[in-house]
Amino acid sequence: MSILFCSSEIYPYAKSGGLGDVAQSLPEALRKKAKVYTVLPLYQTIDREKYHIEYTGTTFFYFLDGVEHQFDIFTSKNNKYELFIYNPIICDREGLYHDQFGDFGDNALRFGLFSYACIELIFHMKLPIETIHINDWQTALIALLAKTKYHLSQKVVLTIHNLAYQGIFPKTVVDQLSLDWEQCFKPEALEYFDKVNFLKAGIFYCDTITTVSPTYAHEIQTPLFGKTLDSTLRDNSYKLKGILNGISYDVFDPQTDPMIFKHYDYKTLEDKQINKKKLLKEIGFVETEKPLFVFIGRFTHQKGIDLLIESFNLVKNFEANFIVLGSGEDNYNTIFNNISVCYPNVYIKVGYDETFSRKLYAASDFLLMPSLFEPCGLNQMIAMRYGSMPIVAKTGGLRDSVTDFTDVDYSNLRNYTGIGITYEEHNIFWFMHAIAKALSLYGNYKKYQKIIKHNMKVDHSWKKSAKEYLEIYKS
Ligand code: ADP
Repeated sequence: MSILFCSSEIYPYAKSGGLGDVAQSLPEALRKKAKVYTVLPLYQTIDREKYHIEYTGTTFFYFLDGVEHQFDIFTSKNNKYELFIYNPIICDREGLYHDQFGDFGDNALRFGLFSYACIELIFHMKLPIETIHINDWQTALIALLAKTKYHLSQKVVLTIHNLAYQGIFPKTVVDQLSLDWEQCFKPEALEYFDKVNFLKAGIFYCDTITTVSPTYAHEIQTPLFGKTLDSTLRDNSYKLKGILNGISYDVFDPQTDPMIFKHYDYKTLEDKQINKKKLLKEIGFVETEKPLFVFIGRFTHQKGIDLLIESFNLVKNFEANFIVLGSGEDNYNTIFNNISVCYPNVYIKVGYDETFSRKLYAASDFLLMPSLFEPCGLNQMIAMRYGSMPIVAKTGGLRDSVTDFTDVDYSNLRNYTGIGITYEEHNIFWFMHAIAKALSLYGNYKKYQKIIKHNMKVDHSWKKSAKEYLEIYKS
């Protein structure tokens, strides 16, 4: 079985969130049973020397709307199944999709070019591909091109990691990408309120759609979570399946993680305390015995940032410390930068920092995830692996991966994949109630420890879910 896995992010080369993690860890898990080629743009921010990335000797050209574009193919010396496409329009800039002024104005062209190049690559590199696996809007156009332009025999699997991002652009893109108006600009393809929508075309033209948790697969077919594509997804529900993401047990492992202060596992939890003490010292907090709550994530409405900000006024008097790491929408960055001095027990770091995030997972007692919706969420799984208890809104993949500790039958712990604190409604009362429950549980430290030890032993790797993807490829 051989797969071409196309993604606009793959950790450690390029990552803005969970897509980067999944595009690294799923192929890694699948490689035990299948030949999986991954393809990523060779963004200028990727350190070619550090990762031993070399030119393969293959270059090809493609004409779009009368303009000739050049694509150079690179590979990693460490793994010949990792391929990279270099094209100056796609790659030569800071940032993946945007800079401080907003989204790049030519993203449709950039990821249109990348989509063409992923298909052309199969021919030019003579790859024996049976299935093409595409991810989110950035590569969704591949399904349309495969079926309408190239008439490929290969099947196409589309994974929706987050329906909130669809790749919506002005319809002039149809000409810019040399697409056929009649065939492509219709409601069962790209057309979307007189614009184009890349993800919508992917949904119609792929052979199978997966999304990243069973609950989210159900939610996106409802008007509340469907982001205006719910009826499109209902029409295509016969080929839609929810498969819960896993995390890489090589990357996220407190026993080997090179970014944390001291390695530990469920048998040496006292060493986790060393991580907590050192981190708090590093940021200038003196009271290291108090429970530590952290938030790690993109600053966007989806992640419940408003609730988080609202909660600071209430938690400022709690016997607990809070650390926030994230970056995102400008208004949130500004708020966080301004309020960081207002609360003595709240530390805020605005920015993207992989090392600091690992230190937070290792140091924290609780991880906050007040998301409005969460397709799968990886943070809660990473947190559980590092012995930090997730406090989550009951939505999407959070619902599928975390059971509230008050609903657990402790004589049968094996039945539970993850245990934490969950709450139902997105408002400050429920959120504060969840934090209060956490403080009370922390008071019963024996019980708290029993739960985090259980979470650290539970399997959140790709073992089970990779099998489900293999079944899909086979079918
Ligand atoms: P999403 O894909 O919606 O951003 P996920 O929960 O699926 O959310 O994945 C988030 C991933 O990105 C996790 O690995 C998390 O640790 C990481 N992450 C998010 N924000 C930051 C940040 N500011 N610095 C470092 N890592 C981050």
